[in-house]
Order: sequence, then C-alpha cells, then structure tokens
Amino acid sequence: MIPLDLHRYDAIKQKYFDKVYGSLQDIPDYSTYHVSHDNLFIRELVYTLYKCDLINCLVDKNNDIFKLRSKQAKDVNGFSDDMLKAAVRALVLADVPVLRKTTETFDSGTAYDELCKYHRLKNKSEAKKTPLEKASELQLKDKYGFLIYFAAKSYEKMRRQKIDPGNGVLTELPKCIVNALGIRTCPYCNRGYIGVSKGRLLGVQLDHFYNRNKYPFLAVSLYNLVPCCGVCNLIKRDIVKDIISPYEDDADFENAVHFSYEIPKSAAAGPNGGKRQLDIVVDPDADQKQRYENNIEIFRLKDAYAFQELEAERFYEKMLAYPESRLQEIAKHFNDNSDESVTAADLEESLFREYFTEPSDYTQKPMAKFYRDLYYNIKGWKR
Ligand SMILES: [Zn+2]
Repeated sequence: MIPLDLHRYDAIKQKYFDKVYGSLQDIPDYSTYHVSHDNLFIRELVYTLYKCDLINCLVDKNNDIFKLRSKQAKDVNGFSDDMLKAAVRALVLADVPVLRKTTETFDSGTAYDELCKYHRLKNKSEAKKTPLEKASELQLKDKYGFLIYFAAKSYEKMRRQKIDPGNGVLTELPKCIVNALGIRTCPYCNRGYIGVSKGRLLGVQLDHFYNRNKYPFLAVSLYNLVPCCGVCNLIKRDIVKDIISPYEDDADFENAVHFSYEIPKSAAAGPNGGKRQLDIVVDPDADQKQRYENNIEIFRLKDAYAFQELEAERFYEKMLAYPESRLQEIAKHFNDNSDESVTAADLEESLFREYFTEPSDYTQKPMAKFYRDLYYNIKGWKR
C-alpha cells in the first residue's frame, strides 16, 4: 500500500545491470546446458524471449538495434553483442507497465499453458508418465527449460552479488536495494519495521512481484523485486489476481484507499449497536478501483489491521478528550504563565505527536498511513 520511489535506483541501475549481464555469462554450470562460448547463454535467453513473443513488449520499437530483430532473431547467431546487451538491459531495467505488458502477452499466448504443462509433467513420477507425455515433456523442456534454468540460476547468483552503491563499500544486492529505497517498513502492509539495522538485513525478503515460477524471464528484473515482510511474501506467493505494484508511478493509494473508523451505515441496528468499526475503503470513483481492492484482499489487510481495532479506539477516545475548544482553554492557561505563546495547534501536536504523520513518513514508520487516515477521518476533515 506504500509507493516506492523508483528514481531512488538511478544511482545503482547501471551497476545492477552490469552485474546481471556479467553474472549471466559466468554461471558455472552453464556449459552443461549449452555449449559455452561468448554470450551464447544470453543469446539463448533472448531467443527464448523471441519465441514467446516477449521481445516486442520489452524494447523500444524505434531502437535501431531492434529493427534488425525481426530479420535475425530466428537465427540465434544473428544477434550482435550490442543487440544482446540492449535486450538484456530492456529485460533487467523494464519499468512496471512494461513488465505488466510482458506478462499479459505471455499469459495470452500458448507459452504460459505449455509452461504449466511442462511443470506438471516434470512433477509427475516417471512410472506414471505415458510415452506421449514423456515425448511432450522433452519437447517442452527444449522450448522452455532455458527460461526456468535462467530464473533459478540467475536470481540465486544475483542475490549473492555485491555492488558498490557509490560509497566505496561493496554491498550485497538485497541490502543495496533496501538502502537505495531507504525503506524501514513493508510497502505491502506497512505494519512492521523491516530494513537494514546496524548494517544487517532485518525481516526483509525480496518478493518477485511477478512470480518467478510463472514468469521466469523476469527473475532478475530490478522493478520486479519488492523488499517486503515475510508475512506478505508468504501470503502473496501464488496470487493470480491483478494487483498494483509499489513501483507503479501512477498508482494513487494515498487518495484511492483510506482507513476509516466510523459507525457503519448498515450496522446502526446490528449486533454492534452503532459502534465505530475499523475498515479499509476504496474510493468508489478511483481509477482502477478493482486493482486496489485486489491488493487489500491479497495481502489480507482487513484481517491484519483488525489487530489495530483497539489502537483505533484509544486514538478516537484521546481525540474525543481533547476537542479544539478544550485545547484552546488549555493554551490560554499556558499563555497566562509564560512569555512564549502556545497555540491550540501546538498542544494538539504535542499530545498526538506519535500519530501525526505525512505521506513522506510512510516508508519510515509502521502504520503511518493508518494513523494519518484515522486522524482526518475522526476529525471529519477532507484533505
Ligand atoms: Zn508486509
């Protein structure tokens, strides 16, 4: 629910790409998969992307390098080093709209069905496979095995790579990512602290926003890696719904999604007898309303935040105890006895300091949006 600033990667993007490009070429057991010579591994990757019709989604069609693509892609040897590099760069540094388009193309073609079939056959015991299934498995392995191999090897290798983020210190990739983003809380749920503490990773897992079993070719795409908490990573694992990535520039969680602590209209005569209830609501007029709702559902945010019902109640009672009129009364007393003037707003800020948050705090403080929304909701203000 918390947007991540993708421009924060600007300083490490090129270094990240160089590492991926370099590490792809020296995966040690590459030669067991294909005869090793310069760039063949990457040629095979690019060719596989071409087979799955994904290159068109990944690259800028005006790029001269890829004007050659349609003529030469069928011939793996037709790729020049520059073409390969541009293709891998497109794959590794693609933004979320491009990644999304790529996955949609993959889903809509036969490639994905075939990949699922291959996974099913691979997991079936040898004794139970019919001769036809055995033949089919071999054929599919030839066609897609490379992608799975790429996903498994390249990502595991990248995780262990170290990058100098610009301070002269070689740092492991997951730590580099967290440091570059400067986050201290999970972008999916904003419920607890995660991050780098005393130089060590704490509670961070790297989620593949687009699942790497389903989309092996996106295993090392930078904007497919979302540092998040273990709970979110676990419950999201097999999602099929279309959800919004924290890297999506045009997503607007701040205005589209709100925490509320109100008396539900329908519940006035219900079992709760008009009691306020904590809820998470999506603006009915929000663009892409369904996708925001999917995020809330997939990360089980309503269940997760139900734990905060008591917090909401305490917050509400505290705000009730200090209405504007009372704060002004107290401020008057202060001003009688002191040279420094104290306003009602100063007092309110001191009383509610821990709850006063700005959108810029969301990546730094757990439950920052929860408190900010509740503050405005209880006050009955429109932002
Ligand atoms: Zn989380």
